Amino acid sequence: MEPSKITPMMQQYLRIKEQYRDAILFFRLGDFYEMFFEDAETAARILDIALTSRNKNEDTAVPLCGVPYHAAESYIQKLLDAGHRVAVCEQVEDPKSARGVVQREVVRVITPGTVTSAQALDARANNFLLAICREGDSFGLASADITTGEFHFTQMAEGQSLIDEIGRIRPSEILVAQNDRKMALALQKEFAAAHVTPVSEEFFSDMAASKISSIEAPEGLTAQHWTQGIKAASAILAYLESTAAESLSAVRSLEPYVASNYLVLDEATGVNLELISSYQGQRKGSLLAILDRTETPMGARRLRQWLLYPLLDEGAIRERQEGVQSLIDNYRLRQELRGALRRVQDLERLSARVVSGSASPKDLVAVKETLGGVSALRRHLADQQPGVLRLLREQLAELPEVADLIASAIAEDPPFALKDGGYIRSGYDAELDEIRAARSHAKDWIAAFEAGERRRTGIQSLKVRYNRVFGYYIEVTKSNLKSVPQDYIRKQTLVNGERFITPDLKEYEAKVLNSQSLMEKLEAALLARVRAGVAEFYRELQASSHALAAIDGLVSLAEVAESCHYCRPRIDGSLEISIREGRHPVVESAMGRGAFVPNDCVIDSDQNQILLLTGPNMAGKSTYMRQVALIVILAQMGSFVPAADARIGVVDRIFTRIGATDFLARGESTFMVEMRETANILQHATRRSLILLDEVGRGTSTFDGISIAWAVAEWLHDHLGRPRTLYATHYHELADLAASKERVKNHNFAVKEWQGNIIFLRNLVQGAASHSYGIHVARLAGLPSPVIDRAKQILKQLEGKQSNESGFPPLAQPTTESPVQMALFDSAERKIREALRTIEITQVTPIEALNILFKLSEEAKKEG
Ligand code: ADP
Repeated sequence: MEPSKITPMMQQYLRIKEQYRDAILFFRLGDFYEMFFEDAETAARILDIALTSRNKNEDTAVPLCGVPYHAAESYIQKLLDAGHRVAVCEQVEDPKSARGVVQREVVRVITPGTVTSAQALDARANNFLLAICREGDSFGLASADITTGEFHFTQMAEGQSLIDEIGRIRPSEILVAQNDRKMALALQKEFAAAHVTPVSEEFFSDMAASKISSIEAPEGLTAQHWTQGIKAASAILAYLESTAAESLSAVRSLEPYVASNYLVLDEATGVNLELISSYQGQRKGSLLAILDRTETPMGARRLRQWLLYPLLDEGAIRERQEGVQSLIDNYRLRQELRGALRRVQDLERLSARVVSGSASPKDLVAVKETLGGVSALRRHLADQQPGVLRLLREQLAELPEVADLIASAIAEDPPFALKDGGYIRSGYDAELDEIRAARSHAKDWIAAFEAGERRRTGIQSLKVRYNRVFGYYIEVTKSNLKSVPQDYIRKQTLVNGERFITPDLKEYEAKVLNSQSLMEKLEAALLARVRAGVAEFYRELQASSHALAAIDGLVSLAEVAESCHYCRPRIDGSLEISIREGRHPVVESAMGRGAFVPNDCVIDSDQNQILLLTGPNMAGKSTYMRQVALIVILAQMGSFVPAADARIGVVDRIFTRIGATDFLARGESTFMVEMRETANILQHATRRSLILLDEVGRGTSTFDGISIAWAVAEWLHDHLGRPRTLYATHYHELADLAASKERVKNHNFAVKEWQGNIIFLRNLVQGAASHSYGIHVARLAGLPSPVIDRAKQILKQLEGKQSNESGFPPLAQPTTESPVQMALFDSAERKIREALRTIEITQVTPIEALNILFKLSEEAKKEG
């Protein structure tokens, strides 16, 4: 395009775009955000909106698309989801008073980690922005949620711990130095859901150390121990400065933490145990869904944090347990607290919006109502004995001055849109009241004017109307035009009428519009003042939010403990786990309590170090192993547990080698993943760890598999300080390990064989399973009977290692019987098979199952 042909506005656009090349530029034009050139083409495709062009038929044609400003949020979110960033460019002067092109500036760059729109955020989860500073092989990691003000940092001595910690935080955006492309690529591969953003190396300074006034280092550690962490935190601050500067006021205190002070749960373990979401990626079916009965988003987020960061410190665990216990013991208090919590809104996010200047009048009213809820909570907790609830009560600030300020300034039920004003309460500001009175006087005059003109002209259908182009005008229909008086000034001719004005009408119009604009400006200024007044109490509001979150979390744990019949576990420093009648919290809740068969577990480093679980598929091995791990996690997060009794010697880390489904997408073979996970366990487990191994050596040949599984078990037995291990395998041959390794104990899940079928009894018994029952399970699954019969035959040959005279390998021996017609429609057999499947689905008791089968087989006999 020739420079001379570019309009001044386009020049302005190009100048601004030049600085934001990596973002889609939303260029404010009146009531729209417009996008041009490539941005327009990209956005039109993603947003599914029309792509048009400016100066269509000329050689200066520019591709263009736009979205209305009031609906921008959802469009921005779509662009973020598609992996883009959005730079929002606003008009920063009043277009009416502008000489030449209206001044415009980018006021905010929206990225996945800096979104603040409530629409885009999940209220029950954080939205973390992460930064990683690498120096050699060690890493600093900082995380911030600008919507809640949380800001933490830590340091990692090696890559694997870094990956584990990122997996636990689940950030939406990760900042890395732009010269470390290798790390950016590795992180993007590992965390596909997060957006990896390269930033200038200069961002990784030590700014955070000087900027943040309150860095609360844990005892014995000074800021010097945290140089990399501080650098990562500085990168977050620098990034916010360049994208969302107003949110900097929300992240005021920076807290270091040591990841190994919490039970370590790597990403795979979190996925395998379905802590936060099910295998299908849904909340339903996860442990969190069972535990979360919170009343507020803050409580929900806190509970989620508790679950992802179980404690190691016995004292801290007991403190939470105490809180839960006193809420179980006092039913009335619990219900009162829940009632008060229902009045509480997301104070944490509300107050972050207040300090960053974006809180709406509705937000302020929500703060006020929440403070009412806080007062109620303080009242209900007034009689608490010293303990965690009492401490939490002390952190709740009622802040009457804040509540009063909001109550006096903001209307009871303010409108959603700020544009038209009306949210400042009358009586709050004398000047505003005066302007409003003048405006309403002028409006009254106009209303009276209509009636007067009808009388004067005799035109009953005469109307005074308003639109944005003409302001106020008089509308007269065609048939009445003859009665229009001389002093009317014609403005516009329509198909069936005409529009007029009069000098008087224009005079009052000016009064109305003038006072309207004065009112809007004044209300906006008053709102900003109220916000600033509330913002002075940010620290107290945040402290209250944290206390509210914890109270809500404890109440939720108490609700679950009582309604699901959980018990309070004893926590100690031993190397034992002893559970009586444990249940799997999620499976139990899906099946109904009576249907789940409880099982004990005794595992320790002295005698019962490795529990080897054999038995057929579907017997309940994985459920049992997961149940033990979940009980440990629940216990260490301070919750009660689904068992009749439990004693937990603190676990420092849970390792799982369970399903590889999730990782297949990353392009590794199942066996490779399986071995990588096993290697990780053998390298990192300590004497305090709990290890779950569900089928090692499955993805390769039987002999390979058994050999690897055997060697792994031996290693766990003889090394690593004897970590407690649950080892499930369908290789019943492994049971022989117990003969040579004293701390290996065989267990299996009881099954009953009956007329060639098996029935799962679901209870764990000592000793090894006699065989794998694979063929039985295959039959249960509906494999045709000739195939089943043939498999049995092959098995017999394999087990007997029969030789073959004709030199064929054993498996290739011909079948001994002539092939039979597949009996898929054999009604009696089908009935039995279906009955067996129903048993799986409805979970009848074993005795009932036997009865059903017995009846069916009687019928089958009768039918021949
Ligand atoms: P495995 O790991 O031995 O193949 P699973 O643990 O996957 O078996 O269990 C198979 C199914 O059996 C589960 O989906 C669950 O519905 C049911 N189940 C497992 N344990 C129990 C139990 N203790 N009580 C009742 N049903 C159970």
